[in-house]
Amino acid sequence: MEDLKHIGEDALIGRLVKGLGKGADVVVGPGDDCAVIDVGDEERYQLLKTDCIVEGVHFLAETPGEQVGWKAVARVISDFAAMGGMPSQLLVTLVMPETQHVAYVEKLYQGMQKCAAEYGAVISGGETSSLPTSSAAVISISGTGWVKKAHLVRRDGGKVNDVIMVTGLLGGSIQGKHLSFHPRVKEAQWLVRDFSIHSMMDLSDGLAKDLPRLAALSGCGYELNEAMIPCSKGSDTAGALGDGEDYELLFTVPAHELDTMTEKWNAHFSQLSLTPIGKLTSDMVPSVSLGGGWEHFTS
Ligand SMILES: [Mg+2]
Repeated sequence: MEDLKHIGEDALIGRLVKGLGKGADVVVGPGDDCAVIDVGDEERYQLLKTDCIVEGVHFLAETPGEQVGWKAVARVISDFAAMGGMPSQLLVTLVMPETQHVAYVEKLYQGMQKCAAEYGAVISGGETSSLPTSSAAVISISGTGWVKKAHLVRRDGGKVNDVIMVTGLLGGSIQGKHLSFHPRVKEAQWLVRDFSIHSMMDLSDGLAKDLPRLAALSGCGYELNEAMIPCSKGSDTAGALGDGEDYELLFTVPAHELDTMTEKWNAHFSQLSLTPIGKLTSDMVPSVSLGGGWEHFTS
């Protein structure tokens, strides 16, 4: 019988969402960084997100609790940023073995609270459960956020000849960044306020997986200038394409806005690079076929 490893995460999600009805108030359903809901507010949409991290997949048993907690919350906030929005309320589900030390779980919560507070989010509830012996711990966070209707950016809005941009440096996240990254909320807010950002997502599974997803949803192909990909110290192009967990922004913008954007960005965010790495094309067949990147069940 077919199992998850044979079809992989993307195909699985494709099959599962096919059978779902779409509520009249759902502006964006499954397939983007957050669900977008029209709750009747004149100016804003509500954003919904759920996420989980699993011991042995996203962190190790020996990873300090505070760092695990930071990561669990930061991943969710990064998805709100990717829609052009801000986080609001967070709910925490903690599934831990009974042998886990109380001090560790307290540290975990300190890390979560630290990240939430830094981004103006509030942990407003949760749930805990035990696990069968020697099962891996799971931390799931769900959250609500908001985005101004005029600022909403989806993955599927990219247009032919848009320049493909990334913030920061990619690759080598396993060296530590995956536990301590800072979601690009203020950067995304700045971008959506002043520029025509056509499509955007956060890079979680590696450029090699995430760029083709964004391009496909936008109905475009892409040309990637691999020499332009900004690599983290100690990383190379292969790492930047395939390591994953960069949590930087990947977005597309019309070419005529590029120069002004770059100039203003450099004045505003001098510590963080902003790099054009290619463009969206009308040809659905990409100029390069990318290898690497993370896909659950098959990786
Ligand atoms: Mg995402």
